[in-house]
Amino acid sequence: MLAALSRWWTARREAAALRRRPIADDLWKRTLVRYPFLRTTADPGAAELRRLTSLFLDRKEFTAVPPLRLTNDVVVAVAAQACLPVLRLGLHRYDGFVGIVLQPDQVVARRQQVDDDGIVHEYDEVLSGEAVQGGPVMLSWRDVRTSGRSAADGYNVVIHEFAHVLDMADGEADGVPLLPPELPRHEWLATLMRDYEAFVARVDAHEETALDPYGAEAPEEFFAVASEALFVDPERLRAEHPALHAMLARFYRVDPAR
Ligand SMILES: [Zn+2]
Repeated sequence: MLAALSRWWTARREAAALRRRPIADDLWKRTLVRYPFLRTTADPGAAELRRLTSLFLDRKEFTAVPPLRLTNDVVVAVAAQACLPVLRLGLHRYDGFVGIVLQPDQVVARRQQVDDDGIVHEYDEVLSGEAVQGGPVMLSWRDVRTSGRSAADGYNVVIHEFAHVLDMADGEADGVPLLPPELPRHEWLATLMRDYEAFVARVDAHEETALDPYGAEAPEEFFAVASEALFVDPERLRAEHPALHAMLARFYRVDPAR
């Protein structure tokens, strides 16, 4: 009885959110043309992606850093791409944060690292995006805007950062998101680490790889980079990392390579 009541209440709340945040037909069509991987992945769930995108817009708070301005095209482009990884998992996976900060372009962050001798090294890191525990998620609009074209390289900043959000849901950024019971942690880690170690060796040897070499930085980056490829360049992911591809398809419950 209580479960039925809760379902009824959720449906009512979602219906109200969908009325508050409708996405016009022409805007939605434009978005699918600009970012073709949305259609290929979501199909036949394109209507569900549109519904989730509206709910995402209702629950999250966007901020734009000038001169970038928030338009419907901008927020729908971000929200639709962000919803792709949770198309089958549900939007509640993103409940841990609210804010999204859009930068016009990549940003330079000053970093500090202490070496084994206690000496502090300062360096600049160029960021296209960043996800931190509890939010906000930062994204470079230039990278989001060109993601239709960069899909051919397996690159997608939105999916990358939201894969980190899924990874951090258990409190740790370690390449292991909250897993369903049928996908045990030891099995996940065995597949992830086997492919990660082989990938690091190939990147160190300057070999061409289907995945962004940035994935060699750490297992959590490898998970994020492989997630990008699953959604925007699945055939190449499957060809080079068949076991990892199958595992990610099981986790996200989608198989865009079909
Ligand atoms: Zn990352």
